[in-house]
Amino acid sequence: MYSTLISNIQGSQAARNSSSRLGEKLKRSLRRTKFGFSSISEHLKHAFILLLGFTAHAFGAGLSSYPHLVVADSAGTSRNGVRVTYLGTNGYQFEFKGHALLVDPYFSRVDLFSVGLGARIQPNISHITDAMRHLASREPNVDAILVTHGHFDHLLDVPIVMATTRARLIASASSVELAKRAGALSGEAVKPGDVRRIGPWKIRVLPATHDRLFGKVPFDRPQSRVPQRAADWICGEPLAFLIELNGQRIYIDSGGTLAQLPPNQKVDLAILGMALPDSRERLSAALERLQPRYILPSHQDNFFVPLSNGFQFGPLTDFRRVQRDCARENRGRLILMDYFRPWTLPTPGNPKSQNTNPKQKTKS
Ligand SMILES: [Zn+2]
Repeated sequence: MYSTLISNIQGSQAARNSSSRLGEKLKRSLRRTKFGFSSISEHLKHAFILLLGFTAHAFGAGLSSYPHLVVADSAGTSRNGVRVTYLGTNGYQFEFKGHALLVDPYFSRVDLFSVGLGARIQPNISHITDAMRHLASREPNVDAILVTHGHFDHLLDVPIVMATTRARLIASASSVELAKRAGALSGEAVKPGDVRRIGPWKIRVLPATHDRLFGKVPFDRPQSRVPQRAADWICGEPLAFLIELNGQRIYIDSGGTLAQLPPNQKVDLAILGMALPDSRERLSAALERLQPRYILPSHQDNFFVPLSNGFQFGPLTDFRRVQRDCARENRGRLILMDYFRPWTLPTPGNPKSQNTNPKQKTKS
């Protein structure tokens, strides 16, 4: 029934062009549906998220406003360093000498209505296949998949990506449990303080927190069933990772709060989730600790639309503020990345290995 409902909503071009009419539709839809919402306020919250998403869909800006910040390899780029490919949402591939690591690979891009209405969600095989084709063209051997937490936009596709790549999963105990319930055959539960050496990678597991949405961490109530709805993909214990190889360090998280800052450890690249206000609140303090050479704000795209639509900023992001804070802290170069356009992290003291625009200025 909900598929008819969702296609009714999505299929209407008029609704895409009028938020007030969409609001009416949503109210009617919500009255008709029974997807296990516990209260009226829950309905309102979801309707609000849906409306925000709609607004972003109509007006969402992409990377074209910031060409001076976007980095990517060109034909002349030296490939000696670690190559970083952005996969959308908080997903990355790191490559080094035929080895690869994946972090939070998520390609299905479940639509906002299915999430907001509590519909059954599942991996989109054709989206995953398309994305993996992008990555497989470079034939790296994927050593491991690191997952920062169990939400659907980080973990939903992992069992299928594991089956495709035969890579091992490294995640919190609850994320491993969820992945297994969703079909993964194995998984290695880690906790903050753990260190794993896999191939050329040294991976330090760090504590992290998750941004709040409407005052609380979304989807954090444990379930004991096979995950079906977005709410079943619970956060669990959020993790960050410090990845070391080739004399370089990459820090990656998917967001955070002031309650848990990154370590006092200089890094070459800091990938910091910036989807929600909490993570932006901690940005200055995080930069002070990490003193990164490069700052890549992450989880900023609207992950409710397919990757093929191209990068659009998400409804709750505020990139101008991120720019202002980075300029004020002046602790590294702010960069952006587009989907599936690899960039080799320049080794220190070798500026020629980067394809950068020397005219970059951080606007304030
Ligand atoms: Zn999350």
